[in-house]
Amino acid sequence: MEERRRYRNGEAMVALGNPSFEAARRHGVIDLSVHHLGGGRLGLEDGREFLNLSSCSYLGLDAHPAVLDGAIEALQQEKLIDTGISRVRVRLSLLDALEQELGALWRTRAITAVSASAATAGLLPLVAGGQLCDDGQPRVMVFDKSCHFSMNLIKPICADEAPVLTCPHNDLNFLEDVCRKHPRVAYVADGFYSMGGAALVKDLLALQERYGLYLYFDDSHGLSVHGEHGEGFVRSLLGEEIHPLTLVVASLAKGFGTSGGVVMLGARHLEDRVHRFGGPLAWSQGLNVASIGAGLASAKLHRTPELGRLQGALRANLQRFDAQVEAPNRGSLSQIRVVEVGAEEQAVERSRHMLDKGFYTSAVFFPIVARGRAGLRVMLRANLSDDDMNRLCNAVRAVAGKAA
Ligand SMILES: *Cc1c(COP(=O)(O)O)cnc(C)c1O
Repeated sequence: MEERRRYRNGEAMVALGNPSFEAARRHGVIDLSVHHLGGGRLGLEDGREFLNLSSCSYLGLDAHPAVLDGAIEALQQEKLIDTGISRVRVRLSLLDALEQELGALWRTRAITAVSASAATAGLLPLVAGGQLCDDGQPRVMVFDKSCHFSMNLIKPICADEAPVLTCPHNDLNFLEDVCRKHPRVAYVADGFYSMGGAALVKDLLALQERYGLYLYFDDSHGLSVHGEHGEGFVRSLLGEEIHPLTLVVASLAKGFGTSGGVVMLGARHLEDRVHRFGGPLAWSQGLNVASIGAGLASAKLHRTPELGRLQGALRANLQRFDAQVEAPNRGSLSQIRVVEVGAEEQAVERSRHMLDKGFYTSAVFFPIVARGRAGLRVMLRANLSDDDMNRLCNAVRAVAGKAA
């Protein structure tokens, strides 16, 4: 019995988390069934409309005409939804073309997956077991306490390969201590955390230099939003070549505006292991034809000045928000702001008030955030007008009572 629940506790998660979801349903702020009206605006069945301020499509590329056309053109060219066979055996040339283009754009070997979470599920156990390093030896796995669910979920599998530790958020002393005690360590972190913080990438690179630390980053919120060609917050700090002991995974369904996930692999020479032994990275689904076509179109946009314009528009909206609303992570590079309100039920009620004013801002509560620290999460985007921004800031101030 004592071997159970070392890395997860489903019973506690449901018992503590479910009442908030039930409250959210009672207040009509989850399970919303909508249709798309354009520009991040969504319509409910009863005719009400709202602006989605919980969308991860930070640059609006998921509704960009060129990206939509890319998906349609690829479908028309291949006349196929998907190949229905593992990529290890057979794959479309169009997929190779997309991966080559993303690799060239972001100066790496880029490998796509059906989602970032699927990539992580396949990759983390290989990191723990040492299969993505030349020495082939297991690594003590140190997960940052604030890691995304998609990484925490894999802890028990990693623990079958190597010791698994959880380190306080961004605690480099803790991490360095582990590096001093163990010859092989891997650190697992988000680039930008879902609640707004960021990884201390430069300090982590110094630890890598000193101790041969393996670095596993999930930069889902940073991809496309940062970097000259949208290579992301983390990749833009990694220099010309990604170190063989560094791996970045990111969702393509956020700033990039399509679907799927991407892996930037430092150890290019070990790529075959990723495909052959990375489980969901190579089961029968990869990116389907529409996603590949959309991806090629989005990648093309990433080479044009339009990307910089959209990144700039997002930054401007972020500054506008910060000038008008007080949030704990005001001024951070991340486009996510959490306006804390405290009690779970309050967050849900305020999310409802925001919806009544025409904005969807998600109530975040345990297990998404610590208990008693519930809040409204506001995710800024490039495609919001001055008028939208002013109305949004006024609404947040009125509902959450926090002026800058
Ligand atoms: C959104 C998100 C994911 C999930 O991405 P999918 O491509 O949907 O699997 C994983 N990690 C982080 C940090 C995210 O923000």
